Amino acid sequence: MKTGFSNLIEPNEGPTLQEQLEVGGMIMAFMKNAMKSAAVYVSHSGRSIVTPKDIQMAMKWEVFEFYNRHTLLDDINEMTRWTMENSEVSTDGLFDEDDFNRAMDNEEEDAEEDDAAEEEDAEEEDDAAEEEWERSACACDICYYINDAVERRWKHYQPNPGVETIMWKRINDMEDNYL
Ligand SMILES: [Zn+2]
Repeated sequence: MKTGFSNLIEPNEGPTLQEQLEVGGMIMAFMKNAMKSAAVYVSHSGRSIVTPKDIQMAMKWEVFEFYNRHTLLDDINEMTRWTMENSEVSTDGLFDEDDFNRAMDNEEEDAEEDDAAEEEDAEEEDDAAEEEWERSACACDICYYINDAVERRWKHYQPNPGVETIMWKRINDMEDNYL
């Protein structure tokens, strides 16, 4: 029963800490899946360096695929546990767009560091300076669905308000970084 007093001490309860961690775990699981499929896409297109474009393409597919994955709950639980053990928790009580952008920026920085390391390795092996980006023409599920998501489904995608819309905007914004 709500009393005047309990309204006073529980003003518009936001998400609990556990719920925030689960959202964080969900985004980490999402990124982990996207990074894995981006790596497959790159190798199946005969390239060796994962570019932001490959990651963006894999993220577009992951938006459609994420909830279909049978490992979804395990992945989210694993990442939620990891977050609890390893990261600072936002103190403002809400997981908002800023937190999401910060998480994404960290991912991108990590990816750039990896690229830099790989590029150095590549340069040591031979003098091929830069790798030309190439679309994968492979017919495996991952390559097919990534191409299909990017070339067909994404245009028609109407994100629901909330996390989906934040992700949709952020994925579209990634284009400014590499085009
Ligand atoms: Zn493939």
